Amino acid sequence: MAKRKLKKKVYSIGIFILILLLVGGYFGMKYYQEYKYKQTYEYKLTEHGYTLEEAKKLVDFYKEDTDFENLLTIEKNSYILELIQEKYYINKNLSRYLDYANKNKDKSVKDVVAVVNVNCDYKYYEHDIPTDTSLGILINVNKYYTLPEDFEPIEIEDISIRYSYDGNRISKEANDAYVSMWNAANEAGFTLIVNSSYRDYQEQEDVYSSKKASLGQKEADKVAARPGHSEHQTGLSIDVFEKGNQSTATFKDSPAYTWLKENAYQYGFIERYPEDKEYLTGYSAEAWHWRYVGEEVARRMHNEGITFDEYYAYYIENQA
Ligand SMILES: [Zn+2]
Repeated sequence: MAKRKLKKKVYSIGIFILILLLVGGYFGMKYYQEYKYKQTYEYKLTEHGYTLEEAKKLVDFYKEDTDFENLLTIEKNSYILELIQEKYYINKNLSRYLDYANKNKDKSVKDVVAVVNVNCDYKYYEHDIPTDTSLGILINVNKYYTLPEDFEPIEIEDISIRYSYDGNRISKEANDAYVSMWNAANEAGFTLIVNSSYRDYQEQEDVYSSKKASLGQKEADKVAARPGHSEHQTGLSIDVFEKGNQSTATFKDSPAYTWLKENAYQYGFIERYPEDKEYLTGYSAEAWHWRYVGEEVARRMHNEGITFDEYYAYYIENQA
């Protein structure tokens, strides 16, 4: 009888311990999961002020720890959720986007991203960056990116006077592409003619100085690039018109210009300063200024409808 009682007791104690273990395990697990969750960026972001939904979106978008650490050091801002949905969003520009948006409340999110990407949140000529000259046909030169005084384009050669006025020179690859384009335009009924092309640093200095002397610096900056900032120094740019119509005022209304707009990309040329893009390129429209970037890049720019400055920021610099 006593043996049976003891057995029952041991059995009860066993059950009791088992329940204790299960309960303890359950709470332990719960505590552990909670502890683990608190280590996640989703939790940290909600603690930082974001809603759970916002935090989930941010976690979905960002991948690197450093990105999250950066997010946590800047004040909670739901505008970031709008920024990351932009196609050309570049993470390293985040605080500049926020600054710029804050000072320019009328700008669309798309424009905020575009303007900052191309450095136009800085004043012209006050943020010089030595440009990467190893990029060949993709060198970028504008009011921020500069070429050294002694920069010389690769394989510079004369453009035949069949296609240009005397004394014009560009890089061989660009020249070959221009001749192909010239022939296609010719078949379509347009006789293209180049009236300006490669200019070295000194020539650009002369152009700029004479403008500055007659107009003053402010006006000169609107019509001429400062030396080292002219794309003509790359040997990849041409000012092209139609023979018989070489007016900068009327070329933009000509069928030849329409033809270039529709076809030049197939030969690797892009319109460098399109209409309504002055806020990104730094130049008012120049229907005659075409830049060689190669067919692949030109096609992409054409399809996406972006300027070279935008292309450069997103596809070259950001992905380097
Ligand atoms: Zn030009």
